[in-house]
Amino acid sequence: MCLNAEPWHVIDKSLYGLPGIAFGGYVGGLLAAELDCDTKVDFHAPTPLKTQLEIRRGHGRVDVFAADVLVATARPHRSDLEPPRLPDWDEACRAVDEYLQKAPITHPDCFGCGPDRRSDSGLRIFTGLTEPGDLVAAAWQPPADFGGRRGEHLPLEFVWSALVCPGAWARRRIVQSDRRALTAYLAAAITRPVRVDEPHVVIGWLQSASGRKSLVGSAIVNKHQEVCAIAEALWVERSLSQASPGHDLTAANHVDDSSLTTERNPR
Ligand SMILES: [Zn+2]
Repeated sequence: MCLNAEPWHVIDKSLYGLPGIAFGGYVGGLLAAELDCDTKVDFHAPTPLKTQLEIRRGHGRVDVFAADVLVATARPHRSDLEPPRLPDWDEACRAVDEYLQKAPITHPDCFGCGPDRRSDSGLRIFTGLTEPGDLVAAAWQPPADFGGRRGEHLPLEFVWSALVCPGAWARRRIVQSDRRALTAYLAAAITRPVRVDEPHVVIGWLQSASGRKSLVGSAIVNKHQEVCAIAEALWVERSLSQASPGHDLTAANHVDDSSLTTERNPR
């Protein structure tokens, strides 16, 4: 055990996007609950499943370790992000059809966006391209099975989880990149509860792209067209020599903010 570290969670074996790696949004949401504020999570290494994780608090941050390896760091974060536009329910429903018919789904068992998951084992958020092609969107009713203790609202770890794949699909569909990418960071602000079994629209959009880096946004919007949660994520493509088609990794390998073109721990 690391000095001053305390036992934290063991991530269930079902909570993955890419097999064997803990879903980044889930880990991020657990960390946001620790800080009890809007949070930015930097991912340093893949977080393993079925492994006793440990955390160390101090200096305004929370570090997560797996077998003494630093895998993620969470810090308080302020966001002034806003969605570019809010599609209505019908447009979001059409985008779901687009996703199921045309999206290059390489990991159909992804916890966030896999159509092979049942409503009690995955979030089933199917963000497809909207007609102008400026964002991806999905009509979505948060499954009741994820409603937490009182069964009314999605717990933080599932709200954060719901924000991952829309951003990943924005990168893949709008940048039109099928290269695998790594999440350097995910930062989310939660403004309203996300109610289970009520209609929501989930969107993802591209903020900027440069070389192998894509900065994406994602948001969950309720039936009153109010933003419940909004996130920003930085994805970095693997280098050409490492590239292979596939779904994005949602809990990433190490990418430093200061050296985004260097992968320390390629998969
Ligand atoms: Zn996914």
